[in-house]
Amino acid sequence: MINTLRALLKQKGYSLTKPRLIVFGVLAGKEPQTMAEIIGLTANKIDRATVYRTIELFEQAGIAHRLNIGFKYKIELTEVFNGHHHHLHCTACGRTFPLPANPMLETMIDTVASKADFAPRGHQLEIYGLCQNCSKPS
Ligand SMILES: [Zn+2]
Ligand SMILES: [Zn+2]
Repeated sequence: MINTLRALLKQKGYSLTKPRLIVFGVLAGKEPQTMAEIIGLTANKIDRATVYRTIELFEQAGIAHRLNIGFKYKIELTEVFNGHHHHLHCTACGRTFPLPANPMLETMIDTVASKADFAPRGHQLEIYGLCQNCSKPS
């Protein structure tokens, strides 16, 4: 993972600095996180402005991407690190869950795009609703 990170940074002419490694470490192997969460987890090591700059750089270098959730967003590592997957977002508690992989869904999206004379290269799909906890009657 670290070698891939280093290679992606190098492609853009950047080196692997300590703050970049720390931010990467916070994102690696975890569910998508808000900027506030990332800042919270790195608070005693890097200042806020550096976190914002690092995330921006990660987005440009294809290391991390932004998931738009309503008017907010969360950050996660790209498919290069995480594999292709989608999310379920709970609008009540704000948690994000991975959607179980479904090859039929993936084929379907590509097929629909092709039928519209479009050559698909990728997609994002975010599903909103209530998680098991939040949909329980109280
Ligand atoms: Zn919930
Ligand atoms: Zn997909």
